[in-house]
Amino acid sequence: MIPIRSCIACRKREHWTTLLHVVLVDGVAQADPGHRLQGRGAWIHLDCFEVAKSRSAFQRAFRVKAEIDLEPLAKFVRASRTLNKEY
Ligand SMILES: [Zn+2]
Repeated sequence: MIPIRSCIACRKREHWTTLLHVVLVDGVAQADPGHRLQGRGAWIHLDCFEVAKSRSAFQRAFRVKAEIDLEPLAKFVRASRTLNKEY
């Protein structure tokens, strides 16, 4: 596994433990903090979620044109920020 990944929103390169892994499952973006989900993945800073959302960075990262359901991911990001947890 390559340890350096880039955030899909700001393109900054980071060690993968600093970024949240997101996997597209049936059109739904799922947070994958345990890196267990199968499917096309993307990496993002928690703080870059809003930017990524407004720039359609998820569609680009997952190479899909269809609308992606970001609600489960949005909930995860909100919860993680509340706990001040780092991914
Ligand atoms: Zn970022």
